Amino acid sequence: MTDPIQYIKPAVRSITAYALAARSAPVKVNQNENPYDVPEDLKRRVMERALARAWSRYPEFHPRELVERLADFSGWRADGILAGNGSNELIEALLVVTVAPGTRVLVPEPTFTLYGLLTRVLGGDLVRASLGPELEYEAEELRRLRRELAASVTIVCSPNNPTGTLLSLDQVDRLCAEGDGLVVVDEAYHEFSGGTVVPLLGRHPNLIVLRTFSKAMALAGLRVGYLLASPEMVREVNKARLPYNLNFFSQEAALAALEDWRVLRANVDRIVEARDQLLHRLYRVPGVRPYPSRANFILFELQDADPRTVFEALLARGVLVRDVTSYPRLSRCLRVSVGSEEENESFLSALRQALEGERFRRAR
Ligand code: PMP
Repeated sequence: MTDPIQYIKPAVRSITAYALAARSAPVKVNQNENPYDVPEDLKRRVMERALARAWSRYPEFHPRELVERLADFSGWRADGILAGNGSNELIEALLVVTVAPGTRVLVPEPTFTLYGLLTRVLGGDLVRASLGPELEYEAEELRRLRRELAASVTIVCSPNNPTGTLLSLDQVDRLCAEGDGLVVVDEAYHEFSGGTVVPLLGRHPNLIVLRTFSKAMALAGLRVGYLLASPEMVREVNKARLPYNLNFFSQEAALAALEDWRVLRANVDRIVEARDQLLHRLYRVPGVRPYPSRANFILFELQDADPRTVFEALLARGVLVRDVTSYPRLSRCLRVSVGSEEENESFLSALRQALEGERFRRAR
């Protein structure tokens, strides 16, 4: 009998899955989550609304109320918004409707790995643009590549995961204006950066913006994301969205988070302040080179110590960071999410100890 796995597309068999080793630690700073959970009264409000509903009935086919509130929140038209089960689902829907075998997708790397993974699952031709010497975006090079390759889709994560760098509004404006093809800007971390390219949507029908409730909105566990684009584009992407993708519990939670945005925003401000402090303190740790970040995480390079050994040493001290050594150009790097003030202290002291231990071990 033929091996049943032979029926899986070769493009799929040849790639490795997006996976995260299930490791736990008291200080969990590996997934860019919000260290501050949503307030209990918000949770209770959501529970009460969920209790009042029949769980035997499907949720809204089009989450109209949520989309309208998202329009108020984002300043973009409701018929140009699509809500999804996390922004991951919308990245997938978008690539399903745009990528066929041979479609060119341009992605600056290192970045969030899902874009490349899905492109290859769909048989697309993934073209990587590299970042500059300081891991910053090279806007001119990106424009040149996009034009020369006639890329159908260009995906830019801004602020970029895992480097924390931003592609400015002007640069996105020029990228969209020069040449054909779609430009996708993943703004998963935009609330921590103070910037957004949403004001460009009215000018560029080829621009698509992705956002999530998993980071600043502190709802990673409930899976809500949204996509903003022209109404025509949204109509097309919507064809690949699964029916009833957003359960009513998550819809209610997203509505409640928007109602309480002032409260959640205070936590975002706190995280941004803590990020800047953490960055300055990391600059002073010998052997560590942090990269400036506009998101809720910091990438740092270990100049002498082995990053995998430091990762394990941090874990042994109860701190779980993200090992990004397999990303292009990041073989000496780890990424840490900005946690609560106490978590950041624990991380810094564990890092100092881990590096001292490493130095001592190597000196022997
Ligand atoms: N985009 C980026 C850049 C991310 O880092 C993440 C989460 N790690 C996502 C999208 C996915 O977010 P969601 O939880 O909304 O699926």
